[in-house]
Amino acid sequence: MEKKKWTVGVDLGGTSIKMAFIDETGAIIDKWEIGTDLTDNGANITRDIANSLDEQLQKHAHAKEEIIGIGMGAPGFINFEDGSVFEAVNIGWKNFPLKAALEKATALPVAVDNDANLAALGEMWKGAGEGAIDLICITLGTGVGAGVIINGQIAHGIGGMAGEIGHITAVSEGGYLCNCGRTGCLETVTSATAIKRMALKDYQNHPESKLYAIYQDKQDVTTKDVFDAAKEEDPFALSIVDEVARYLGEALSNVAILLNPQKIVIGGGVSLAGETLLKPVDHYIKAFTLPGVYEGLELCKATLGNDAGVIGGAWLINKQLKRI
Ligand SMILES: [Zn+2]
Repeated sequence: MEKKKWTVGVDLGGTSIKMAFIDETGAIIDKWEIGTDLTDNGANITRDIANSLDEQLQKHAHAKEEIIGIGMGAPGFINFEDGSVFEAVNIGWKNFPLKAALEKATALPVAVDNDANLAALGEMWKGAGEGAIDLICITLGTGVGAGVIINGQIAHGIGGMAGEIGHITAVSEGGYLCNCGRTGCLETVTSATAIKRMALKDYQNHPESKLYAIYQDKQDVTTKDVFDAAKEEDPFALSIVDEVARYLGEALSNVAILLNPQKIVIGGGVSLAGETLLKPVDHYIKAFTLPGVYEGLELCKATLGNDAGVIGGAWLINKQLKRI
């Protein structure tokens, strides 16, 4: 009997590499993680992935010949033409031939893309975007990124930088310094880091706030604390969420006017706030975008969590090999 064909999804991060076997329907058979070896500018990473893959195949008594291929996401700018990485700062890669190196190490076909793009493809295939072929998937974590899908295809741009929504200018003067070296980027006012900073900067002026009490208690305030307090109508916490939602709503309304998407999917740690964040963001998108654009648009929370990248990887290699 022929064994079911699997693909391998790989999602590379600065501390760990998420890997999964995924069947032809997009369901995860098994998933696991290995540490990211950053020594020698990430030179050992493709070998580590190959070794880990062989170990897991043995565990499942699954022949390598039954594996269709590997779809991998990397945190950096990807040259979509040849699957090389222009630059992945957190990994140490510069002009690294990722696709070629992983194909050599595993003897399997490999497709690569940026990690935010893969998360968007994952959400399109099996998550919140199911059914939509024009969508933007924005990830709000310690940083802010996005994947833009137009007519079922990821937009890459000439240098692999399309979708870098976190670096849209949100504060044109006097903004905070961003990782990119500029100031006032959307990331500096809507990331988890930014929300925490807003709370810590101003809690002392709001002794009536729950956040003030939380700080007195544990000498810290988290992003989750801010959203929890906002859910309970704490005015200071609500003012922070409103500020974040306004910046996000302004940026997304402009992006929506440009692309007229069917869905905007919000993922990443900050999206766990759910309606507490989505409702005010939706309010500002409605206020700032064209009515016709707003009518066709659905704002929703990502549903795949940390699995979005590996599922997107599986979709990408299936697509590259024309299996879907
Ligand atoms: Zn920036």
